[in-house]
Amino acid sequence: MTAETPLSTGERSTTYKVCGSLTADGRPCAAPAREGRAFCLFHDPAADSRETIALARKRGGQAAMAKLEPVNMTVDFTSAEGAAATLQRAAEEVLAGRLDSRRSNALGYLAAQVLRARADWGMEERLGKIEQALSDLGEEGRDNADREE
Ligand SMILES: [Zn+2]
Repeated sequence: MTAETPLSTGERSTTYKVCGSLTADGRPCAAPAREGRAFCLFHDPAADSRETIALARKRGGQAAMAKLEPVNMTVDFTSAEGAAATLQRAAEEVLAGRLDSRRSNALGYLAAQVLRARADWGMEERLGKIEQALSDLGEEGRDNADREE
């Protein structure tokens, strides 16, 4: 099957022949046929194997960049226990092949950031209480001094 398919490129319109082969899932290949050939580089039996390998590598790279499937798992970074459970679940999902390393790395990074932020926030809260306690003691001291006079 060879068809002339117009390809609009902005103002200019150009035509190219589509590959006459079928893809692995049985649909017509949409890749442009090679110059003067009936098939694309991937399907042309006369194509140089090194060229074909290079194209396959390029397509593999594009597959890696493709939209990721959602992973059905709950994320809980509201407590250290929740974060630990989330990372535990992420590790299990990675081993089961349902979660890619890129997203599991992102989860690990985010968990570390959240826990650090919580630790900083907890420290500020404790410091605030200590400052308030010292301030209260100071006022109490002055009140006692006033009464003694
Ligand atoms: Zn093809």
